[in-house]
Amino acid sequence: MIPTARGALRVIKTSLILKVFLVCFLAVHAPLIGLIVYLAFGLPEDPVPMVSAVVAVTVLGTVFSFAMMWMFFKPLRTLAASVRRFNVDGVPFQLPSDRSDEVGVVLRSVTCMVSDMNLLMMRLKHQALTDPLTGLGNRRWLNERVAEEIARAKRQRETISIIVFDLDNFKQINDRYGHDVGDHVLVAAGELITKHVRPYDLAARIGGEEFCVVLPRTRGADALTIAERLRACFEEAIVHPLAKGRVTASFGVYQAEPEDGLARMLTFADNALYHAKQSGRNLVLSYDPDKQMSSTGNRRD
Ligand code: GH3
Ligand code: MG
Ligand code: MG
Repeated sequence: MIPTARGALRVIKTSLILKVFLVCFLAVHAPLIGLIVYLAFGLPEDPVPMVSAVVAVTVLGTVFSFAMMWMFFKPLRTLAASVRRFNVDGVPFQLPSDRSDEVGVVLRSVTCMVSDMNLLMMRLKHQALTDPLTGLGNRRWLNERVAEEIARAKRQRETISIIVFDLDNFKQINDRYGHDVGDHVLVAAGELITKHVRPYDLAARIGGEEFCVVLPRTRGADALTIAERLRACFEEAIVHPLAKGRVTASFGVYQAEPEDGLARMLTFADNALYHAKQSGRNLVLSYDPDKQMSSTGNRRD
């Protein structure tokens, strides 16, 4: 079967090797082609104009081959730079190409792979830092974010407070109504917390039925008010099939000192929480490093 000109062109368009071969062939044979054309036009056969014409065509052939090679391989240079940037800074890239040769295929495939990988990495990072049940951050997320907040608070001389709270007699809910209802209560608790904290507060589930909210730019007294509001909301919440008032929580509040890290903040807030449990649950207590402990005494009996 004799290939048509259109078929041959299509083959050349899809093959980088053929394109490079054709350009090299033309560039290498440019002096010869120039000489043939020169003679075919019956131009003077003196050595000076002949050599000048051949040199001119040779230079033209060199420029032509360089320009074509640049055009063929420039997208690969751009791709290499983008891949390097992605490896260093994680900046994803889009390099669309309508070329149908191997360079076009590589460009489209790598762009697609990088975008998939980026999406996957974001998803994995989200999963690694999120509690799947409540959608709140987990302890790892809290560690990362609180470190940033503490550094910022130090720089700007701001106060940070922390609230740690734990659902009361939660094991009984599991035992009486089953684990699914227990999970449902945890989901409801997550929703309630999300609804009541400010967008820049850091809310996390740090244990089975233990939660934590770190409050940037918040003094201890204000944190107490926020904790008290949360306590009242838990008490008022209706979580089917439990009776209103069955889901309660005990709270420990602490205003961080400038030198405190998350571990110390958690220890002191936990201490207050422990005393809230000891004092009968459904209660907000704050830890005062000087006075040891103080209670807001807002439990409804
Ligand atoms: P307290 O008021 O002293 O905190 O008592 P409590 O019963 O809430 O605390 P305890 O530590 O005795 O029990 C906590 C229970 O939480 C035990 C555990 O099975 C349950 N739990 C932990 N994680 C989950 C979870 O993801 N889903 C469910 N349904 N239960 C969980
Ligand atoms: Mg509990
Ligand atoms: Mg607990």
